[in-house]
Amino acid sequence: MTTATTSPASRAIAPDTRAQFIKGVGGGRATLLAKAGLETAADLLYFFPFRYEDRRHPVQIAQLGRFLDTPVLMRGRVLSASSRVTARKRLSIFEIVLEDGTGAIKIVWFNQPYLKDAIQRGDRLAVYGTPRSTESGHVQIESADWEKSEEGDEEGGIVSIYSRIGNIAPKALRRIVGTALEALPLIDEPLPEALIEKLGVIGITDALRTIHRPGTLDDQFLQQRSPSHLRIIIQEFFTFQLALRVRRAREEVKRKTRTLKVDDSLRAEIRRVLPFKLTGAQKRVLREIAADLQGMRPMYRLLQGDVGSGKTIVALIAAMIAIHNGHQVALLAPTEILVEQHYQRIVQLLGSWTKVARATGSMNASQRRELLAGLKDGTTGLVIGTHALLEKKVVFKSLGLAIVDEQHRFGVEQRQKLFAKAESPDILVMTATPIPRSLALAMYGDLELSVIDELPPGRQQIKTVVRSSADIERAYAFIDEELDRDAQAYIVYPIIEESEKLDLLPLTEGIEALRRRYPLRRLAMLHGRMPADEKETTMQRFKRGEIDILVATTVIEVGIDVPNASMMMIMNAERFGLSQLHQLRGRVGRGERKSYCVLVHEPRIAIESRERLKIFEKTRNGFDVAEKDLEIRGPGEFLGTRQSGIPRFRFGNILRDHDLMEKARDTAIEVIEKEGLDTAEQLARKLLGVSSPAVTRD
Ligand code: ADP
Ligand code: MG
Repeated sequence: MTTATTSPASRAIAPDTRAQFIKGVGGGRATLLAKAGLETAADLLYFFPFRYEDRRHPVQIAQLGRFLDTPVLMRGRVLSASSRVTARKRLSIFEIVLEDGTGAIKIVWFNQPYLKDAIQRGDRLAVYGTPRSTESGHVQIESADWEKSEEGDEEGGIVSIYSRIGNIAPKALRRIVGTALEALPLIDEPLPEALIEKLGVIGITDALRTIHRPGTLDDQFLQQRSPSHLRIIIQEFFTFQLALRVRRAREEVKRKTRTLKVDDSLRAEIRRVLPFKLTGAQKRVLREIAADLQGMRPMYRLLQGDVGSGKTIVALIAAMIAIHNGHQVALLAPTEILVEQHYQRIVQLLGSWTKVARATGSMNASQRRELLAGLKDGTTGLVIGTHALLEKKVVFKSLGLAIVDEQHRFGVEQRQKLFAKAESPDILVMTATPIPRSLALAMYGDLELSVIDELPPGRQQIKTVVRSSADIERAYAFIDEELDRDAQAYIVYPIIEESEKLDLLPLTEGIEALRRRYPLRRLAMLHGRMPADEKETTMQRFKRGEIDILVATTVIEVGIDVPNASMMMIMNAERFGLSQLHQLRGRVGRGERKSYCVLVHEPRIAIESRERLKIFEKTRNGFDVAEKDLEIRGPGEFLGTRQSGIPRFRFGNILRDHDLMEKARDTAIEVIEKEGLDTAEQLARKLLGVSSPAVTRD
């Protein structure tokens, strides 16, 4: 050290002080903090507690029966600790008995094998968890938060609990944040005075101090509705809306250079192509889309419609309008299977009206050359593809319309890559995950929304039932009976295709068991990592009825359309989100057959999980499912945060706080109008920089 005149410990803390110079942070801890995105004192100020404990009042274990289903704090000593692994599911279970002089309680954790080294017999713990009554009538706690406490060293009062960072002890982390709080008086107020007033919020210094060190825990505070929370909520919403609006305003200056017309010859073509009568809802959204396409500004529209509501034909007609006017159309779909299905169906309808091409990762060199040439010279009117479509090499002569099917499967950047292949293309994104309007507003700002709220005629309702795997033979027998009537079935195992390494064991074990159960049936396996041609032949054979039971991963979740398949059995259904279950269920009920969805769960699952499945059993409409899902999982998880492009707001709940979101939007528009785009952009940059790491990540 050549320049240091003061020791790190005595140096005053400023917002830009590096974490390593904060008392209690050594090199090792600094690395851990940096990994969590906490590099300066200011970062730590925006690292909020996720919970508070009022340590003045722990509950006595003997009294827990009175606090069923309510989270409470207990203190006690570990009487025994044991871990085991279930044979069948390879689920690791760690159990302790905690005793406090008034009584004892069992606390259980699943799949956290490291706990057996962290918690030992004799340890004193502060445990925060929700007592529940088990099937056998005992009270027990699952997956509680815990912290070791040494005798005589128990912090009293209100304690802030921060998410764990590496192996930094909770108490040490609390002290580190406490020291960072010394920087508060120096922190920059990112919102201009006038906006603070307009938005009706308190100053940032007070808000941050109170969130870290609340004086009292009243309901308003605990529900994250205190003035301090509102300050953060509104700041983040405003930041998000301003950034979004600035970007859109920059886009909107652009005018479409092409003019599109819907004339009689096109109408005749569309009539010739249509295989059925459109529903009223399909006609309505088509009018909306056609008006956009013929307008001056680029279309930016979200088409929403429940599974099976018939979005494909709408997309096809939109495509025909663009192609008829001399432009090309790209349709992006998340899986090769879906690309293939769209391709088959569309070629069958269009015949030789325009040249239709496919773009997938499994093209060989000559197919690729042909594809690229056709797009570049404009002879290909419509291309349907997976991510392969996004490659740099894919260049269009004149891309007029970009369509994204199952848009929630794509990240923001991926969508942008497609849209960037033309000057200012018309854009149609489609989703079967109904998004409440407030959420749509938050995600896309001013996109237009079209909703198909009607199913094609003749659809049978899908009967949904929940079964324990202990009872699975009954479900098997039922499927058997239906297969006797020439129906077909899907059986889905909970394997997430997106993960890098795909553990196929549950699937291969599953299909072996099923082969023993159904020796005379024709079974086949389908998963995302099979070679494309194998996937394709399997799908075609299933469509032709040459396979009775398709044993699959969630690769079949999106879009697959086989009307004769009328049974969907989902294994370990408790591991799926409701919206995903709804997608899977949507694979059946597509034809005239009475259809069934059987949700199979492990015999012992958490009460909440069982309740979730029960809710799903009763809920048919995708909108209702989405709202429930959103309520249960919050907007982040709902659409798979990273994928969906929905920012993670710290306290803001897009559903609950939609009025605040609207206020933020109006204020953002006003700022742009009054101050001009450049000033607004500067403000947006500043806000993104100082205050909203959660917003910027996506
Ligand atoms: P999704 O909205 O889930 O993408 P699809 O476009 O795959 O739904 O349509 C589901 C099924 O309904 C397809 O078999 C399709 O041919 C059929 N379909 C769509 N619209 C109609 C309609 N108006 N009348 C009859 N069948 C229709
Ligand atoms: Mg579809």
